[in-house]
Amino acid sequence: MCIFCKIVNKEIPNNTVHENEYFLAFHDLYPKAPVHILIIPKQHVDCFQEASAEMMGELTIFIQEVAAKVGIDKTGYRLITNNGQDGGQEVFHLHFHLLGGGQLTWDHSHEDAHNFI
Ligand code: AMP
Repeated sequence: MCIFCKIVNKEIPNNTVHENEYFLAFHDLYPKAPVHILIIPKQHVDCFQEASAEMMGELTIFIQEVAAKVGIDKTGYRLITNNGQDGGQEVFHLHFHLLGGGQLTWDHSHEDAHNFI
């Protein structure tokens, strides 16, 4: 069983932010921003590439609820999913990183097309 399935099964503790029958949002253990929340489906899906349109539709509403609940819906946020090896995915249970709570950095320059972020 993967680590996030163990969190869903309450075998590993988590700091829950928001939850419903299908999805769970909890604080990332190693936050990279003042707000860093992971949002997962309770049903195991390896990665975004395996996600259904139906699940993503419901997940969109859930993520918007989480952003409003933690008060970053108006100030803004970044939503990221790392998909597969080149995407840097470490936990192979679909999850979205919701980052915010302060100005996030982003390289807006167009000088070097070979930057990989
Ligand atoms: P990724 O690299 O996209 O697969 O991200 C995995 C994320 O899971 C990382 O940001 C980790 O800090 C986070 N993480 C791993 N284990 C836990 C845990 N038990 N509770 C909360 N966050 C975790």
